[in-house]
Amino acid sequence: MSDYSDKFQPIVDLTRTIYGEGFIPLHRPVFDGNEKQYLIDCIDSNFVSSVGARVTEFEQRMAAFTGAKYAVATVNGTAALHVGLMLAGVERGDEVLSQALTFIATCNALTYAGAHAVFVDVDRETLGMSPDALRSFLVAHVTRKNGHAFNKQTGRRIAACVPMHTFGLPCRIEAIAALCDEYGIALVEDAAESLGSYVGSRHTGTFGKLATLSFNGNKVITTGGGGMIITDDEDLAKRAKHMTTTAKIPHPYEFVHDMTAYNYRMPNLNAALGCAQMEALPRFLEIKADVARRYGEFFDAEGVTFMRSPAGTTSNYWLNAIVLDSLAERDAFLEYTNAQGVMTRPIWRLMTRLEMYKDCQHDGLENSRWLEDRVVNLPSSVPGGAMGA
Ligand SMILES: *Cc1c(COP(=O)(O)O)cnc(C)c1O
Repeated sequence: MSDYSDKFQPIVDLTRTIYGEGFIPLHRPVFDGNEKQYLIDCIDSNFVSSVGARVTEFEQRMAAFTGAKYAVATVNGTAALHVGLMLAGVERGDEVLSQALTFIATCNALTYAGAHAVFVDVDRETLGMSPDALRSFLVAHVTRKNGHAFNKQTGRRIAACVPMHTFGLPCRIEAIAALCDEYGIALVEDAAESLGSYVGSRHTGTFGKLATLSFNGNKVITTGGGGMIITDDEDLAKRAKHMTTTAKIPHPYEFVHDMTAYNYRMPNLNAALGCAQMEALPRFLEIKADVARRYGEFFDAEGVTFMRSPAGTTSNYWLNAIVLDSLAERDAFLEYTNAQGVMTRPIWRLMTRLEMYKDCQHDGLENSRWLEDRVVNLPSSVPGGAMGA
């Protein structure tokens, strides 16, 4: 421990310079705009639940912001991904390619859709799915028949591929999209962490058939809980709305539903919060870029790898991350910083190390394992307000 404190104390000091005294959370929401007013308006109008104008407004704002033609709000990001995968054509017994280094929601959603996960490795520069690993897997394990891809080992169809833009760092999505095209695999981007992240000038989540977003309490913006499907496909967007709203046929008083669907609609109260957060989003992104710049300059001087926007991309810097030298150093870092009230956390445990997904097919996962031992997140909120600084 004492060996490490020379290295760790200046990091704690830096977070104190940015965020002030007291407990520093990893990422806390900021409500310093019209949030309260819009919520009060909502309550006064009585439209708090599944009907109301804020849902449509929030969807339109999100479509305009991301450049996607359509947006459909849902109760959370996992629900968006669940329905999104079904709309992308995933059926019970299919396989879905994803990354083992992700938050569990990605895997849970494809499991709800009845699919089996198959994991390929990530890139060290992006922490997201590696198109090289994807290509190697496809070449070695996949055969094409009638425009579909089949896993030679299991005989199952590979219906979709779900890369994730980890901590807001865009993965090499263009190369992944080209491979999915070539093999007839639907590309569904898990863009839960990358609202405000771009590849060139194109927003993440606009490269595949559809993408999903999350507005959980710890994300770049929050609706309390919430999610969104974004797509350019009008028919898919209509079906997304239908499937997330119990598949009710519009009628003034009759209750007729044409399929077993879901009650995944975002309530108007949450959408009201979302509308106010959308007004703040450009400012949040500027401030987050500034926090990342301060971290980056510090870690450059210290010779520590700070995760920056990969070449040609712009990260939203949702969660700032550094790469430590070893698992031992990582553990010491987590203990040292958390004991001082500076919340840090390790990157997720690989999905293949969890009981439910341990038997899923995967490649060597070399980078995933390497990163799992070394990557930690630093406090990344928008500073100010109750936090001081
Ligand atoms: C947050 C998140 C989701 C969705 O989570 P919800 O809490 O259901 O909104 C999905 N995938 C990833 C990678 C996430 O970080």
